[in-house]
Amino acid sequence: MDLVLNIADYYFFTPYIYPATWPEDDIFRQTISLLIITNLGAYNLYFFFATLSYYFVYDHSLMKHPQFLKNQVYREIMHSVKSMPWISLPTVSLFLLEVRGYSRLYDGVGEFPFGWFRLLASVLSFLFFTDMLIYWIHRGLHHRLLYKRLHKPHHIWKIPTPFASHAFHPLDGFLQSLPYHIYPFVFPLHKVVYLGLYILVNIWTISIHDGDFRVPQSLRPFINGSAHHTDHHMLFDYNYGQYFTLWDRIGGSFKNPSSFEGNGPLDYVKKMTEEKFSNHAGNGCKNEKLFNGEAKRPST
Ligand SMILES: [Zn+2]
Ligand SMILES: [Zn+2]
Repeated sequence: MDLVLNIADYYFFTPYIYPATWPEDDIFRQTISLLIITNLGAYNLYFFFATLSYYFVYDHSLMKHPQFLKNQVYREIMHSVKSMPWISLPTVSLFLLEVRGYSRLYDGVGEFPFGWFRLLASVLSFLFFTDMLIYWIHRGLHHRLLYKRLHKPHHIWKIPTPFASHAFHPLDGFLQSLPYHIYPFVFPLHKVVYLGLYILVNIWTISIHDGDFRVPQSLRPFINGSAHHTDHHMLFDYNYGQYFTLWDRIGGSFKNPSSFEGNGPLDYVKKMTEEKFSNHAGNGCKNEKLFNGEAKRPST
């Protein structure tokens, strides 16, 4: 985060906002700047990618599902907008520790090929580590002592849209993002890679709420996609994972998504529409027959 803070200081905060006498490394100034950057960044990421996903990926016929709520998109957005500033408070305290040099984030790649190998290995280990921790944190949030108060607000949306991706109780949202923040304090990670991964995990979170249930056949056993996560929203006790199905398989909570078995919410909407159409067509036919005088008239 110090990369972003340095850029913001250089181009914006130092020349235009703060008095010249206020040093850039003052902890109070850093806290204010990080609060502004984190909130602006979170809102921009959320609105930009969730809107793209809503208009270009999300299947709008899902909105006809009987479990889709009234004004749901508006409610998802409002919930997210209200939660994000609260989530940013504990998040900024961790960013502050990072900026003040307590993490294991580093610049520069180093000698080829070792440096690049370390970079690639850190991406894989970041994904593995965060996937594992999010699984157990998410599963813990389903414990009866925590669920009602913390995690239930995210399960109001049985048929989520991309805008539900950040619609959490603030503490729930922070706890599920905690693994991303813990990682660079435990393992070495390149600063630019960390920034890229941070943006990527936000996009992934949106993508598992996007109602696009397709996963390439060869990846179906491994990837936890929108089909898995929508089943999680509907059925609660299955598919807690984030990117992979690994921990659901280990933890015994894996369920082959209903959409892969022709039984998902989109199939339901399709059947519902077909039934409606055939009923309508049936009635239409009857009416037409009556109109043409072909229908059997009661004998007088
Ligand atoms: Zn969700
Ligand atoms: Zn859940």
